[in-house]
Amino acid sequence: MYRETGWLEGRKRLAPDQIALVDGETGRRCSYDLLYRRSVRAARYLSEMGISKGDRVAFLAPNDMAVFVCFFACERLGAIFVPLNWRLSPRELNGILEDAGPKVLLFHRRMEHLAAALAAPSIVPLDLLDPDDPPEPEGEEEADYPSLSDPAMILYTGGTTGKPKGVVLTHGSIFWNSINTILSWQLTAKDRALSCLPLFHTGGLNVLSLPVLQAGGTLVIIDRFDPDRVMDVIDRERCTIALMVPTMYHLLIRSPRFAEKSFPTMREFLSGGAPCPREVHRAFANKGLPFREGYGLTEAGPNNFVTDPSTARKKPGTVGKPMLYNQVRIVSEDGTDSPAGSVGEIWIRGGHLFDRYWNNPEATDESLVDGWLRTGDLGMRDEEGDFYIVGRKKEMIVTGGENVYPAEVEQIIAEHPEVEQVVVVGAPDPKWGEAVAAAVVPRKGSCLTGEGLRSYLRGRLAAYKIPKAVLFMDELPKTPVGKIDRRAILRLFVQKD
Ligand code: AMP
Repeated sequence: MYRETGWLEGRKRLAPDQIALVDGETGRRCSYDLLYRRSVRAARYLSEMGISKGDRVAFLAPNDMAVFVCFFACERLGAIFVPLNWRLSPRELNGILEDAGPKVLLFHRRMEHLAAALAAPSIVPLDLLDPDDPPEPEGEEEADYPSLSDPAMILYTGGTTGKPKGVVLTHGSIFWNSINTILSWQLTAKDRALSCLPLFHTGGLNVLSLPVLQAGGTLVIIDRFDPDRVMDVIDRERCTIALMVPTMYHLLIRSPRFAEKSFPTMREFLSGGAPCPREVHRAFANKGLPFREGYGLTEAGPNNFVTDPSTARKKPGTVGKPMLYNQVRIVSEDGTDSPAGSVGEIWIRGGHLFDRYWNNPEATDESLVDGWLRTGDLGMRDEEGDFYIVGRKKEMIVTGGENVYPAEVEQIIAEHPEVEQVVVVGAPDPKWGEAVAAAVVPRKGSCLTGEGLRSYLRGRLAAYKIPKAVLFMDELPKTPVGKIDRRAILRLFVQKD
């Protein structure tokens, strides 16, 4: 029989000794040849357990090389990789396991405790299929590689907004996303990418990590984010590119060491997942460091928009232009396309989209309309075709019949010299329906008051957009991937009333 070549197998043939993975904590290295052999051995183990095409393999581990060993082992068998968010409670995880129906749950020894509270037909420690000793040289073994339309992974999202939904990404979605990313960010085998977002999330796995491996580059994996560690690892491993969420950049620029750093090996800092504050853009621009922002979502690959190197600096706040073969519409309330300058819902179509929500045809039908993904994000484009995200459709505040986009209000408030961070939500209000409400983290030593902030905003914002309630906090609540948890903030305003 004609033997297909999987993606990792192809890479290994091209450059077996090239380093694929580096453990950022220990400096341990894994070449493409070793990664391939580890994944063949793991696939053999899974196959002996009865895992084959279409079976789900649940996976519970911190950021570790084993993520990729198991992803490629699943690819080899045509099995579906289901990485789990270990910050969820056993109850939440068991809900996900029940939905995904895996034949096996693989767990890292560090998560033994959590694994013991979970239910799956078999629960296996990772070191049984990926032990420390080097695997044997490659033998003549058949792989059952999937086709591009077969499911590759299920990523559970939306935990903070009700029951998590399993986003089914096919090998085709991953392939398109990787090609697009390689071209947009000019990834090559010379890149050494810092991977510090959680690898169970699309941000950690699909935005940069899998595209870098597809380009034959090196991934430097960090398990726990810490600004000083990030700076040390970038220096030690001579990283060329890094992806972080705005919260991480915020911590990075606040570190006293940031001011002295020049990052000579870095050719690109990338931000995505949430709007990046102007302050971060400014801090990087002041040091002459290349900084670009992207926008995307799990259901769409996730990489969809990215700024050109020049626009990012000229127009902070934009997420740039659509990536290749990414068809985009901005759809207004009446279903027609919005002209430049008008806000509407962003719809996306292309080969990088997800296939469906696992076991959830209703949610799939709501999200996918004639092949278009309704993102639920509101955005607009300017005359030059650069896009701006103004918030989630669900987060748009309707106050006294007027629409208010939180992002716009947040940007103006963030310009106040005594404001460190701000989030704006719509709190239920008997008179206005919803009232604009702001949670503010003030700078150290500030004595800003709600009234002081409101008087600063008069003249800068229309009266109906000025927050009626202001809550000062030491820190904003975050979701497991480090995004600001708007629902938790909203709850604070509801409790306050
Ligand atoms: P997730 O699927 O968990 O990656 O979340 C995707 C959501 O994050 C999108 O639907 C947007 O609401 C938000 N998002 C991602 N990137 C950006 C960005 N650059 N600016 C604003 N919001 C973003």
